[in-house]
Amino acid sequence: MESVKTTQMDKAATPNGKVGAVVVVGGGIAGMQAALDVANSGFRVYLVEKNPSIGGNMAQLDKTFPTNDCSTCMISPKLIEVAKHPNIKILSYSEIEEITGTPGNFKVKIKRKARYVDETICTGCGTCVDNCPVQYRPHFEQSAQMRVDAQGKEESKSTHGTGE
Ligand code: SF4
Repeated sequence: MESVKTTQMDKAATPNGKVGAVVVVGGGIAGMQAALDVANSGFRVYLVEKNPSIGGNMAQLDKTFPTNDCSTCMISPKLIEVAKHPNIKILSYSEIEEITGTPGNFKVKIKRKARYVDETICTGCGTCVDNCPVQYRPHFEQSAQMRVDAQGKEESKSTHGTGE
Protein backbone atom coordinates (compact mmCIF):
# COMPACT_ATOMS: atom_id res chain seq x y z
CA MET A 1 0.00 0.00 0.00
CA GLU A 2 1.26 3.41 -0.95
CA SER A 3 -0.05 6.73 0.26
CA VAL A 4 -0.19 9.79 -1.96
CA LYS A 5 -0.68 13.21 -0.49
CA THR A 6 -1.43 16.38 -2.39
CA THR A 7 -2.86 19.77 -1.62
CA GLN A 8 -4.87 22.22 -3.63
CA MET A 9 -1.88 24.55 -3.53
CA ASP A 10 0.43 22.23 -5.44
CA LYS A 11 2.95 24.83 -6.56
CA ALA A 12 5.47 22.48 -8.14
CA ALA A 13 2.94 20.70 -10.34
CA THR A 14 2.12 23.29 -12.97
CA PRO A 15 4.88 24.12 -15.44
CA ASN A 16 2.85 26.96 -16.97
CA GLY A 17 3.00 28.93 -13.75
CA LYS A 18 -0.58 28.36 -12.59
CA VAL A 19 -0.81 27.53 -8.92
CA GLY A 20 -3.12 24.87 -7.57
CA ALA A 21 -4.05 21.28 -8.07
CA VAL A 22 -7.41 19.59 -8.30
CA VAL A 23 -8.50 16.09 -7.32
CA VAL A 24 -11.18 14.55 -9.54
CA VAL A 25 -12.80 11.48 -8.01
CA GLY A 26 -13.99 8.87 -10.48
CA GLY A 27 -12.41 7.96 -13.79
CA GLY A 28 -15.57 7.36 -15.80
CA ILE A 29 -16.55 9.47 -18.79
CA ALA A 30 -17.70 12.38 -16.58
CA GLY A 31 -14.57 12.30 -14.45
CA MET A 32 -12.32 12.10 -17.49
CA GLN A 33 -14.04 15.08 -19.13
CA ALA A 34 -13.85 17.07 -15.88
CA ALA A 35 -10.15 16.24 -15.58
CA LEU A 36 -9.51 17.31 -19.17
CA ASP A 37 -11.42 20.58 -18.76
CA VAL A 38 -9.50 21.52 -15.62
CA ALA A 39 -6.15 20.32 -16.97
CA ASN A 40 -6.65 22.24 -20.21
CA SER A 41 -7.18 25.39 -18.18
CA GLY A 42 -3.69 24.89 -16.81
CA PHE A 43 -4.13 23.18 -13.47
CA ARG A 44 -2.57 19.99 -12.26
CA VAL A 45 -5.19 17.23 -11.91
CA TYR A 46 -5.08 14.04 -9.86
CA LEU A 47 -7.68 11.67 -11.29
CA VAL A 48 -8.57 9.09 -8.63
CA GLU A 49 -10.29 5.87 -9.73
CA LYS A 50 -11.09 2.95 -7.41
CA ASN A 51 -10.97 0.35 -10.19
CA PRO A 52 -7.74 -0.89 -11.80
CA SER A 53 -8.37 1.21 -14.91
CA ILE A 54 -10.23 4.33 -15.95
CA GLY A 55 -13.14 4.28 -18.40
CA GLY A 56 -16.02 3.36 -16.12
CA ASN A 57 -19.26 1.80 -17.27
CA MET A 58 -19.20 3.44 -20.68
CA ALA A 59 -16.23 1.30 -21.68
CA GLN A 60 -18.48 -1.75 -21.19
CA LEU A 61 -21.24 -0.52 -23.50
CA ASP A 62 -21.72 -1.15 -27.19
CA LYS A 63 -23.99 1.79 -28.04
CA THR A 64 -25.24 4.84 -26.14
CA PHE A 65 -28.79 6.16 -25.84
CA PRO A 66 -30.41 8.07 -27.53
CA THR A 67 -28.08 8.59 -30.49
CA ASN A 68 -26.94 4.96 -30.80
CA ASP A 69 -23.37 6.18 -31.07
CA CYS A 70 -20.51 3.73 -30.68
CA SER A 71 -19.27 3.95 -27.07
CA THR A 72 -15.74 2.92 -27.86
CA CYS A 73 -15.48 5.53 -30.61
CA MET A 74 -16.45 8.22 -28.10
CA ILE A 75 -14.44 7.09 -25.09
CA SER A 76 -11.20 5.88 -26.72
CA PRO A 77 -9.91 9.31 -27.79
CA LYS A 78 -10.59 10.62 -24.28
CA LEU A 79 -8.75 7.71 -22.67
CA ILE A 80 -5.69 8.52 -24.76
CA GLU A 81 -6.01 12.27 -24.16
CA VAL A 82 -6.24 11.76 -20.39
CA ALA A 83 -3.36 9.28 -20.33
CA LYS A 84 -1.07 11.57 -22.32
CA HIS A 85 -2.05 14.91 -20.78
CA PRO A 86 0.97 16.47 -19.05
CA ASN A 87 -1.24 18.04 -16.36
CA ILE A 88 -3.10 14.84 -15.42
CA LYS A 89 -1.81 12.14 -13.12
CA ILE A 90 -4.00 9.03 -13.09
CA LEU A 91 -4.20 7.31 -9.72
CA SER A 92 -6.11 4.14 -10.59
CA TYR A 93 -6.82 1.35 -8.09
CA SER A 94 -6.81 4.10 -5.49
CA GLU A 95 -9.31 5.50 -3.04
CA ILE A 96 -9.69 8.66 -0.99
CA GLU A 97 -8.83 7.96 2.63
CA GLU A 98 -9.11 11.36 4.20
CA ILE A 99 -9.82 14.97 3.28
CA THR A 100 -8.83 17.72 5.67
CA GLY A 101 -8.42 21.48 5.45
CA THR A 102 -10.58 24.31 4.21
CA PRO A 103 -11.56 25.61 0.75
CA GLY A 104 -8.37 26.71 -0.97
CA ASN A 105 -6.15 24.61 1.23
CA PHE A 106 -7.32 21.00 1.20
CA LYS A 107 -5.12 18.06 2.01
CA VAL A 108 -6.20 14.75 0.47
CA LYS A 109 -4.85 11.39 1.55
CA ILE A 110 -5.17 8.72 -1.14
CA LYS A 111 -4.63 5.01 -0.62
CA ARG A 112 -3.07 3.24 -3.60
CA LYS A 113 -3.89 -0.47 -3.53
CA ALA A 114 -1.14 -2.98 -4.16
CA ARG A 115 -0.88 -4.33 -7.73
CA TYR A 116 1.90 -6.80 -6.91
CA VAL A 117 3.78 -5.83 -10.09
CA ASP A 118 6.15 -2.99 -10.84
CA GLU A 119 4.03 -0.71 -13.05
CA THR A 120 7.12 1.04 -14.37
CA ILE A 121 8.49 -2.09 -16.05
CA CYS A 122 5.34 -4.18 -16.75
CA THR A 123 4.70 -4.38 -20.49
CA GLY A 124 1.20 -5.86 -20.19
CA CYS A 125 2.25 -9.04 -22.01
CA GLY A 126 -0.22 -11.17 -20.01
CA THR A 127 2.13 -14.07 -19.27
CA CYS A 128 1.52 -13.81 -15.53
CA VAL A 129 -2.25 -14.01 -16.10
CA ASP A 130 -1.88 -17.23 -18.10
CA ASN A 131 0.14 -18.82 -15.32
CA CYS A 132 -1.65 -17.45 -12.26
CA PRO A 133 -3.33 -20.20 -10.14
CA VAL A 134 -5.86 -17.77 -8.65
CA GLN A 135 -9.28 -17.52 -10.33
CA TYR A 136 -11.65 -14.63 -9.75
CA ARG A 137 -14.83 -13.24 -11.19
CA PRO A 138 -13.91 -10.68 -13.83
CA HIS A 139 -15.30 -7.24 -13.07
CA PHE A 140 -15.19 -5.87 -16.60
CA GLU A 141 -17.29 -8.72 -18.07
CA GLN A 142 -19.82 -8.31 -15.23
CA SER A 143 -18.97 -11.89 -14.20
CA ALA A 144 -21.41 -13.30 -16.79
CA GLN A 145 -19.25 -15.66 -18.79
CA MET A 146 -17.98 -19.21 -19.08
CA ARG A 147 -14.67 -19.89 -17.46
CA VAL A 148 -12.67 -22.82 -16.15
CA ASP A 149 -12.68 -23.27 -12.39
CA ALA A 150 -9.84 -24.62 -10.26
CA GLN A 151 -10.90 -28.25 -10.90
CA GLY A 152 -10.90 -27.74 -14.68
CA LYS A 153 -14.72 -27.90 -15.04
CA GLU A 154 -16.41 -25.33 -17.23
CA GLU A 155 -19.13 -23.46 -15.43
CA SER A 156 -21.40 -20.53 -16.10
CA LYS A 157 -20.90 -17.53 -13.86
CA SER A 158 -23.88 -15.23 -13.82
CA THR A 159 -23.69 -12.86 -10.89
CA HIS A 160 -25.01 -9.83 -12.72
CA GLY A 161 -26.22 -7.23 -10.28
CA THR A 162 -24.64 -8.73 -7.19
CA GLY A 163 -21.80 -6.25 -7.22
CA GLU A 164 -19.21 -9.03 -7.07
S1 SF4 B 1 4.38 -11.17 -16.97
FE1 SF4 B 1 3.95 -9.47 -18.41
S2 SF4 B 1 1.95 -8.62 -17.74
FE2 SF4 B 1 2.73 -9.90 -16.06
S3 SF4 B 1 3.82 -8.45 -14.70
FE3 SF4 B 1 5.36 -9.33 -16.10
S4 SF4 B 1 5.46 -7.88 -17.83
FE4 SF4 B 1 3.56 -7.42 -16.68
